Amino acid sequence: MEIKELEEEIKRCKRCNLHKNRRNAVPGEGDISSGIMLIGEAPGYHEDVQGRPFVGAAGKFLNELLQLIGIKREDVYITNVVKCRPPNNREPNEDEIKACSKYLEKQISIIRPKIIITLGNVAKNYIFKKFKLRNEAISKIHGKVFKIQSIDSCIIIIPMYHPAAGLYDPRKKNEIIKDWLNIKGIVKNVLSKD
Ligand code: SF4
Repeated sequence: MEIKELEEEIKRCKRCNLHKNRRNAVPGEGDISSGIMLIGEAPGYHEDVQGRPFVGAAGKFLNELLQLIGIKREDVYITNVVKCRPPNNREPNEDEIKACSKYLEKQISIIRPKIIITLGNVAKNYIFKKFKLRNEAISKIHGKVFKIQSIDSCIIIIPMYHPAAGLYDPRKKNEIIKDWLNIKGIVKNVLSKD
């Protein structure tokens, strides 16, 4: 299945109750050939309106972080664990994550990422479970680099704070900026091998 076909399927999906209040499902967007995937939690208000991931204030900060390490937003594929907005921006529940996981799984299998950057707890918990990594609090492992080695590939997983965490807390914002600057070399290295 191609990514566009999958994105169309997501837009029509009614597998969980989140479809009832959505304006738009938000499948994801970006370059699927760069080998870099960013995974957030779920769409918020602006994402639901526009049908695009990370377009609100947190998205603006994410764009700045990407710029800071010298890559363009279009160079990476950005998506969320859950593709429709939960009411009042609450965290998606287990049933919603389970219902929606088939899409993230397909995106990962189509893109075959070399780097997965998780943004926030929901994405970290999902990806750490999937790859059987020892999960710890984001406050302990943010910005750390984890490597999954299989016979034919190596995937780098980097859990980051959700950019929204830095919006109203200058100290956290600086911590987030530092984490992103630290991974500049790793990300550039993957991009240069394209
Ligand atoms: S959140 Fe996922 S599973 Fe639920 S309706 Fe939207 S696309 Fe379908």
